[in-house]
This record gives sequence, structure tokens and C-alpha cells, in this order.
Amino acid sequence: MIPGPIEFEPEVMTAVGMATTSHVAPDFIESFGRSLELMRKVWLAPSGQPFIIAGTGTLAMDMAGSNLVEQGDSVLVLSTGYFGERYAELLGRYGAEVTVLRAPAGSVPDIHAVEDALKSRRYTMMTFTHVDTSTAVRVDPEPLGALGQKYGVITVLDGVCSVAGETIRQDEWHIDVVLTASQKAVGVPPGLALMVVSERAMEKWRSRKTPVGNYYCDWQNWLPVMRAYEERRPSYFGTPAVNLVCGLEASLNLILKEGMEARFERHRKAGQTFRLAMREMGLGMIPVSEEVSANTLSAPFYPEGVKGGDFMREIAASDVILAGGLLPELKDKYFRVGHMGSVTQGDLLTTVSAISGALASCGYRK
Ligand code: PMP
Repeated sequence: MIPGPIEFEPEVMTAVGMATTSHVAPDFIESFGRSLELMRKVWLAPSGQPFIIAGTGTLAMDMAGSNLVEQGDSVLVLSTGYFGERYAELLGRYGAEVTVLRAPAGSVPDIHAVEDALKSRRYTMMTFTHVDTSTAVRVDPEPLGALGQKYGVITVLDGVCSVAGETIRQDEWHIDVVLTASQKAVGVPPGLALMVVSERAMEKWRSRKTPVGNYYCDWQNWLPVMRAYEERRPSYFGTPAVNLVCGLEASLNLILKEGMEARFERHRKAGQTFRLAMREMGLGMIPVSEEVSANTLSAPFYPEGVKGGDFMREIAASDVILAGGLLPELKDKYFRVGHMGSVTQGDLLTTVSAISGALASCGYRK
């Protein structure tokens, strides 16, 4: 029950476990091509350009950054935790002049403050973390996409902890880049960086004045490969993660079989149920309100008198695996529970009862 890697469906593991084939074998070309087509449906981005690259979520962040930023560009980073800070640092490496808009831990930057920032300076790009995995804080991407349109700013959504779990309508909400990694709600073992890019962002990349400063990330190298797979032609730049791509096709099929609306609703319910159970136990959480609470994971505080180390030792004795805190300033004060992808109501019940038992063993009484 950690927020990634999650547990994977047996169909996905079967696909991942197939005999590795050539990256230009006809059946693999078919699988890669179909995965690209299926990504547009999962992202709700019929007009977007999908990329499937061997790497992690940080590579997806790097790819968006390196292709869309040029030396001296002004970039606005909305930070709601650890991964917002990571994006700010990363963009600086490509010569961006980064402004970070932070909210106190547990809340999101005010939308009027974001608009004021966009009015105050000619930003070329704005990034935001849909769900920051360090705080379980969720931002609302829709008004941010609208602001990006209004001010001509490319919007990049770090959806590593949200894509295929939280509601995202990339085209309708005008988000230029929605990026993620395979190991969370997408439901494939770690190792794939995934993103869908709008035509507006591809145009921004095409009109660059300087070459992309990262060789592996350069879309110049990857766009022809993605096009070839979709047109069912062999091609090569870097060897794809063949087995993971087969797993991706299997998982995207399962996701679409469930249906995006049903999946969003299931995650909403899982999040609400889990938060309700934590509140019933008397635990507070990092997100300051339901409105900014993620549905893919939760971040409850340890109650007064319970030490994180003791609690985690008790939890380790149960059959449930949870994650500790990640945000440096609050690290020892809270824990994290993932509830995304294949998680069932039964899993939630088992987890809640393990937490309740561990707290009781630590001497906690509500
Ligand atoms: N962004 C967010 C919101 C994440 O949760 C993570 C991973 N936990 C990353 C980026 C980085 O992904 P990876 O660990 O796959 O590089």
C-alpha cells in the first residue's frame, strides 16, 4: 500500500514476463503502436503526441524541461511539496529563470496569486504537480490550464501520482504536457517514462532557437520513432524497454475496459473512504481540506504520543506495507498510504485495521 510501485494485475505481469522479442519484430511494433494509441484515450488527449521512453518519472520531467526550455526563459513552478522543488531544481539546469510559488505545507497556491504572477512577468512555461506524493496535496489542473491559455504559457502537469487515477482531461483542460511514470496508477512495473504533448507545445519545441541540451531526451531523436511505431514501421533510436511496453499495452487495455469515468470515481471513493477512516481514528492529515486531498494516496499525521519508528515496526509485523514521510520538514511526523490502481475495498479495510492495531499497540486510544 505504498504510493508506488503499486501492486500489478496478473495480466500485466504475464505480458511483462513474455520472452523478450526484437524491438523491430512485427508483434512488438504492433504492441508499441497500440500502446501509443491507447495512451491518448487514457489521457483524454485525442490530439496529443504520446511518448513512451525507457526511464523513470524524473526522466519524463527532464524530457519536458529540456525540450521546452531555453536559456533565460522564465518559468513559474507551483510547488506543493518535494516534487515541485525537484522540478524547480531540474529546470534551473537548463538555464531557466525559475520562480517558485509555494503554499504552506498542506495547501495549494491561491489561483489569484498564480494569475498575478503570470501577469507580472513574461513566463514561457508553468509547471504544477497534480498530486505531490510527499504531501498528498492535489491541485486542480483545470483553472491552471485555462490560465496557461489566457497568458500564452505552456503548462506542464507532473501527473506521476495521478494519471489513470485522478481525473485528467488533457485536451479539454488545455494542459500542454501531462507526464507520468509506469509504476503508479498506470499499473506497470517501474521503468517507463510516459507523456502526452499538445500540438502547441510541439510547436514551441519546433520553434526553438537553440538545440536541446540533453541528447537522450531530445524529441528530435524520439518523435520519428513514435511516428514509426504508430504507422507500424520499424525504427530505432534507443532500445525500448520491450517487456515493459508489452505490460503497458496490457495495463492500458485493462484501464480502458474499466472505463476512465468509472476509474476516476473508484479512486475518488477509495480516497474518501480512507480519509474518513483516518478521521474516525482521530488522525489529522497534511492536506488542509477535502478539496485539496489526493485520492491516490493519503498522508496522515501520527497522533500525539505515537513515535513513527514504533508505529512502522508494528505495521511491518502485519501483512501491510506503508511508506514513511518524505517532506523533509515533517518527515517524522506522518506516514503515507497509497490507494491507487488495483487497490480494492478489501485492501483498504485490511490496511485500516492494520493501522488501528499498530496504533493500539503503540498505546494510542482515541
Ligand atoms: N513526481 C511525482 C509526483 C512523484 O510521485 C514521483 C515519484 N514518486 C516523481 C515525480 C519521480 O518519479 P520517479 O521516481 O519514477 O523518477
